[in-house]
Amino acid sequence: MPPISQHLLELFDAAGAPRGLLVSPELWAKVRDKILPTLEKALYELDPSCRPVPVEKPEPMAEWETLLSYWDFAYPPAYDVSCAHCGASTPDWRADDPRKFRLRNASLGGLVTFQCQACKSLILKKHFKKHLTVECQPYVERC
Ligand SMILES: [Zn+2]
Repeated sequence: MPPISQHLLELFDAAGAPRGLLVSPELWAKVRDKILPTLEKALYELDPSCRPVPVEKPEPMAEWETLLSYWDFAYPPAYDVSCAHCGASTPDWRADDPRKFRLRNASLGGLVTFQCQACKSLILKKHFKKHLTVECQPYVERC
């Protein structure tokens, strides 16, 4: 049990059950940067609902438009996307609202990547001079 101080006080209810810990602003300021990451990690385990929702990056539409403007493949651009992992598909990814597939990347080299919104798999459309290949990489949880 920590010593009783105006900076750190363990709190109990009338029945003696622990209720929490009171840390003074001065003490918190001294330990915040060290303790907060540990505290947040443990908190997310106890209460997963308070995890911050990751902010989704906007689709790189300018990259797609650039690829279209330099399109020199032997076939026209196609807008269909399908996910071999969960079976989701669309005839035109741009027309879906909400999106079934979000554009993640479009490089001038011809690699266009989408993320399936149903199962998070990545769909890689690789444009070669005369043909197109499509790969599906199922989503893997990172720890
Ligand atoms: Zn999918």
